Amino acid sequence: MSFHQGVNVAFLFGAVCFVLGLHFMNSPATARRGNQLSAAGMVVAVAGAFALVANGEAMSATRWIVLLAGAVVGAGFGLYAARSVLMTAMPQLVSLFNAVGGGAAAMIAVADYARNTAQGSGTAVATVLDVVIGSVTFLGSLIAAAKLQGYASHPVRLPGGRAASYVLAAAAVGSAVAVVAHVDLLWVLLVTVVAALGVGVLMVLPIGGADMPVVISLLNAFTGTAVAMAGFVLDNMILVVAGALVGASGGILTKLMADAMNRSVPAIMAGGFGTGAVGAEAASGSGGSVRSIQVDDAALQLAYAEKVIVVPGYGLAAAQAQHELRELTQVLEGRGVDVSYAIHPVAGRMPGHMNVLLAEANVPYDQLKEMDEVNPEFPRADVALVVGANDVTNPAARRPGNAVSGMPILDVDKAKSIIVIKRSMASGYAGIDNELYTDPKTSMLFSDAKKGLASLTGATKELVA
Ligand code: NDP
Repeated sequence: MSFHQGVNVAFLFGAVCFVLGLHFMNSPATARRGNQLSAAGMVVAVAGAFALVANGEAMSATRWIVLLAGAVVGAGFGLYAARSVLMTAMPQLVSLFNAVGGGAAAMIAVADYARNTAQGSGTAVATVLDVVIGSVTFLGSLIAAAKLQGYASHPVRLPGGRAASYVLAAAAVGSAVAVVAHVDLLWVLLVTVVAALGVGVLMVLPIGGADMPVVISLLNAFTGTAVAMAGFVLDNMILVVAGALVGASGGILTKLMADAMNRSVPAIMAGGFGTGAVGAEAASGSGGSVRSIQVDDAALQLAYAEKVIVVPGYGLAAAQAQHELRELTQVLEGRGVDVSYAIHPVAGRMPGHMNVLLAEANVPYDQLKEMDEVNPEFPRADVALVVGANDVTNPAARRPGNAVSGMPILDVDKAKSIIVIKRSMASGYAGIDNELYTDPKTSMLFSDAKKGLASLTGATKELVA
């Protein structure tokens, strides 16, 4: 077996690890093993890439120093970020990783172009696709990370922004075609880069609230596609496989998220974001008064309920209160209360956020019910216990003209009574008031989720005793 054949066999092994790893991520029970297997595949892929480089003729001492320094700095940052990131900041980190992946893929293509023009050989379609998709993803993902961090999380509409994005998209496509047609001028490729960067900014800036989850998975799919193109540019099989897996799974996730959010992917691609008029006033429908409740009264309601549906949201993750929630529900279950958890597809700040959080606290998977399954159960629930969820419960979504319009919600308002644990009347990610909080059936338990749940558990235990 030749050296190259040996490396290709190693790459094939890595690719099999990726595929099996993804397969294991199908279920929370095997997801950890899936992650480990994928990481092993990545170690093989990186080792194979190093072997190829070491075996090539183009390496000099300086190039080795640059390569190793880059690898150490990159791996060091990745390790530090992954170990120190708070669970609530994970979506921003994923967005940053998307940006890095897209940017790296685009730079590979630019370097390839420079080499091709120097050699007088043509530029492949994969190279320009890599530049365009990678550049859009780079700045688009940086803006998305900033929005997830809370900067400009509302839609930012620049005057003439829509027209400008069409002009930039046309410039990116036009210059890309010219590059493929053998116009060997570096500045033409730089036009492609700048125009695509601009498209990335203008694509993500006007998005906010209910549309963000869809755009994040779309950018994830873009990253994978750009990496696959980089694989073609470098003629590297494992890069093509890894990129294609991310691109395809990101694409499927985008479609699922768009369906769950009642949005259309083509409309999103065309920039048809933010379907409703935005603003607190747009949603403040009932204008009723707010009723607050004390811990003892809330515990009484919960302890004497037959059926309780817990509705977790971003606030549960922010407070890291999953273990306190599990303790409370175990006490209730001990009294024979039927407890289940209503999982909205975009609750929290990343797909599957609530599933991961509740799995950490060993909540049995069969108690987690997806939106379509749980919604018909709300009218039979004695208490819906909303913990740090806001937008995903807002009945304003059923009316047009606001930032969550059209988004399917959990039918919490159909429960016989509702207890909401949050710290204040502050709005959620979409930035609008929640009519659920002024519903006559709703009682607000104003508290940090961790403290509130712990006090509720204490009070319920006393009642039981
Ligand atoms: P929201 O963002 O709508 O609301 C969260 C609520 O949690 C806030 O109103 C806040 O109120 C409360 N909260 C914050 N910290 C605490 C705490 N320590 N203790 C108790 N409560 C707390 O969350 P939802 O899960 O309902 O909705 C998710 C939103 O995020 C949707 O708009 C979705 O579109 C968007 N999004 C989702 C993504 C995803 O993939 N899942 C990605 C990007 C955006 P207060 O300050 O008063 O406590």
